[in-house]
Amino acid sequence: MTVDPPLLAIDGGEPVRRDVLPYARQWLDERDEQAVLEVLRSDWLTTGPSVTRFEDAVRERTGAAGAVAVSSGTAALHAVMHAAGVGAGDEVIVPAMTFAATANAAVFQGATPVFADVLPGTLLVDPERVATLVGPRTRAIVGVDYGGQPCDYEALGQVAERQGLALIADAAHSLGASLRGRPVGTLADLTTLSFHPVKHITTGEGGMVLSAKADRLATLRRFRNHGFDRDHLQRAAEDSWRYDMIDLGFNYRLTDIQSALGMSQLARLDEWIARRRDIASRYTAFLRRGVLPARPLDLAPGVEHAYHLYVVSLDQERLSVGRDRVFAALRAEGIGVNVHYTPVHLHRFYRERFGTGPGGCPVAEAAFDRILSLPMFPAMTDGDVEDVARGLTKVLTAYAVP
Ligand SMILES: *Cc1c(COP(=O)(O)O)cnc(C)c1O
Repeated sequence: MTVDPPLLAIDGGEPVRRDVLPYARQWLDERDEQAVLEVLRSDWLTTGPSVTRFEDAVRERTGAAGAVAVSSGTAALHAVMHAAGVGAGDEVIVPAMTFAATANAAVFQGATPVFADVLPGTLLVDPERVATLVGPRTRAIVGVDYGGQPCDYEALGQVAERQGLALIADAAHSLGASLRGRPVGTLADLTTLSFHPVKHITTGEGGMVLSAKADRLATLRRFRNHGFDRDHLQRAAEDSWRYDMIDLGFNYRLTDIQSALGMSQLARLDEWIARRRDIASRYTAFLRRGVLPARPLDLAPGVEHAYHLYVVSLDQERLSVGRDRVFAALRAEGIGVNVHYTPVHLHRFYRERFGTGPGGCPVAEAAFDRILSLPMFPAMTDGDVEDVARGLTKVLTAYAVP
């Protein structure tokens, strides 16, 4: 007698869990609430002392020489494009496998993003590909620490240095990671962070730029504050109301309310990354048993991974359905998987405005059809991790080709 496999929830069966486990979620407690309340009762809701304190704390944690807090990771990317001197007619080399904002920031400045393909094992930008894309109009190279492991900034830095280009790290995924012992925040000329709720620590919305270059830091501070040559604190110190607008800038300031939340969150970063690594090692041990048609991405050499995402690649040759069906079936089981990302050059805006499209970055395009991000956040319990494993086993076994 054979036992029928369990009916998938998508076909009307019992789901693995009733409440959907999200792919990411913030973690706040009374300490965060208390920190925010203190600011709400103080004199400074914005441009006050909490912002500087948060900048100093991130600087200390990462070993970066300087930090400028801004209102989002996207604002941080826009600001670094400006600080790197990116303008109309320039080109910026950007990996195809990233969140759209990485490339959009170059467009904000009137520049053209040139999409570089990624390495098939890690989905990190391929430095050799980058080298072939550098031309007379190239102004900057952007690395994206996809999933939470730093790119090969040594190789990218050699290309940048040879050509006199700015090296930018989009480290929205990799706060707390390192490469050959060097922490994220010290690996590129300019590094951007995001504090969106799905990222390692949150301020609601928020971001930061890290850099060791004093002139760039001054430019960044002006850019977040309308391009003014001095802020209200400097004016108060000088007993003067005068300021001059010497540059075009924005209101990209982070509030004290957000900064206090960020400080409070940062205190738990190490503990949270340790938990992310623990969850990742459980997933990896489960997938390495090799029975399911899915495998984890590779770990790049010399990397201490921060696991913003845990991405698996489906073995399509061993599956009777495509990624989107697996995605829908897992969601129906209560396992909140996600897809990171649609390669940016395939988005309609880029096709229409810049003439990009399929075939431009074949490795990223092939990966896109296979990837799924599993739930990954520090508040997940061991039981949640087991639910993901049970959901994967149920769905991938049902769809495996015999
Ligand atoms: C989240 C993210 C951003 C944008 O950050 P926001 O704070 O949401 O503006 C940029 N790049 C990458 C790779 C991201 O994951």
